[in-house]
Order: sequence, then structure tokens, then C-alpha cells
Amino acid sequence: MSAYRIGVLSLQGDFREHIRSVEATGHSGFGVNRAQEISTLDALILPGGESTTIAKLAQSFGLFKPIKEAIAGGLAVYGSCAGMILLAREIEGAGVGQESFGGIDMKVRRNAFGRQVDSFETDIDFAGIEPAVRGVFIRAPWVESVGAGVTVLASVSTDSGMHPVAVRQGNLLATSFHPELTQDSRVHRYFIEEIVAKTRR
Ligand code: GLN
Repeated sequence: MSAYRIGVLSLQGDFREHIRSVEATGHSGFGVNRAQEISTLDALILPGGESTTIAKLAQSFGLFKPIKEAIAGGLAVYGSCAGMILLAREIEGAGVGQESFGGIDMKVRRNAFGRQVDSFETDIDFAGIEPAVRGVFIRAPWVESVGAGVTVLASVSTDSGMHPVAVRQGNLLATSFHPELTQDSRVHRYFIEEIVAKTRR
């Protein structure tokens, strides 16, 4: 298998860590922040960071529409944390005027697990990845509800019940947590093998 070209949206957030995780899989990971780059990619990663800021910068860099269209057109996209929020059809607790690219038929709740001080780590059973994945949650969203086309790959149990933290719909993958902040690249590998390899045009 030849190396896929996987762009990581590099406007704000932990894009460097995603680039490193992609490189650890043996594929080519690099930053993208220009509209004309989007159509040249085999896949795109939306990093963790601040979803309001990433959305605003995407607008001012003229990237918002091209990314939204690429998602709708079947590009393989993985979003972690803020990236998950950007892939949601609906955002609970959105900032004023905050928009998402959409693509996954889900409602996410921003900062669902609490404030920065409530950031935590836990082992997560992730469908299709054995053994458990270490989940790093930093002011993370959870998935409030999903439509029929969405597959839940992992959930976390809290006082208020079970909440999905990893979901997939067609060409799109999203996690509430940050595998890119660990040395374990299995979630990136999962994205590449299960989604990128199957959608690559
Ligand atoms: N709380 C951030 C947001 O709403 C996401 C945090 C993260 O990506 N670690 O965008």
C-alpha cells in the first residue's frame, strides 16, 4: 500500500501532534491551511483546540466552504474534540454564531464533562481496536444524540449515564478524546484502514 496524503487543518490547536501520529502510521501527514490544498488530499484531520476559533479562522482563510463541500463530497475526515464539534450537525452550548462543517448526524454538547480542571484520562473500549485505548479528555464534548446512520464506537459512563465519545458515519470519524496526545497511533491507523482506504478516490 502506498502512503496516503493526510492533511491536518493547521489554523489553531494540536495539529502538530496529529501530524506526528499520522507519520507514526507510515503515511504522509502535513499541515494544510489553504483552500486549494483540500482537493489534493486523501483525507483530512480536524484537530483538537477551540472549535469557535477554528471555525472563525476557517471562514477568514476561505476554507469553510471548501471543507464543508469536501465532507459532503465524501472526503475521509477525522475530528478529535474540537474537531468532533466541527463535524456535528448540531452543537449544544455553541458560541454566538458558531457554525460547524456538519456531516455527522449527531448533536454534541460542548464542554460536557466540565471545565478545564475536570479534564481526565481513562481507558476506553473502542469497537474494532483491541485492547482498550487511553482516552485523554480536555474540556471535551460528548455526543448527546445520534441519527440512524451513525455508529457508536466507544462510550464513557458518568453519573448521568453512558455518553458516546467515538462515532462514525460513512467517511467521517470523530472522538471526544485526543489519541494524538498519546504515543498510541491505533485510532489514526483505524481511520486510515477502515475509512481512508475505503473512500480514497
Ligand atoms: N472545549 C473545546 C471547544 O469547545 C474543545 C476542547 C478540545 O479540543 N480539547 O472547542
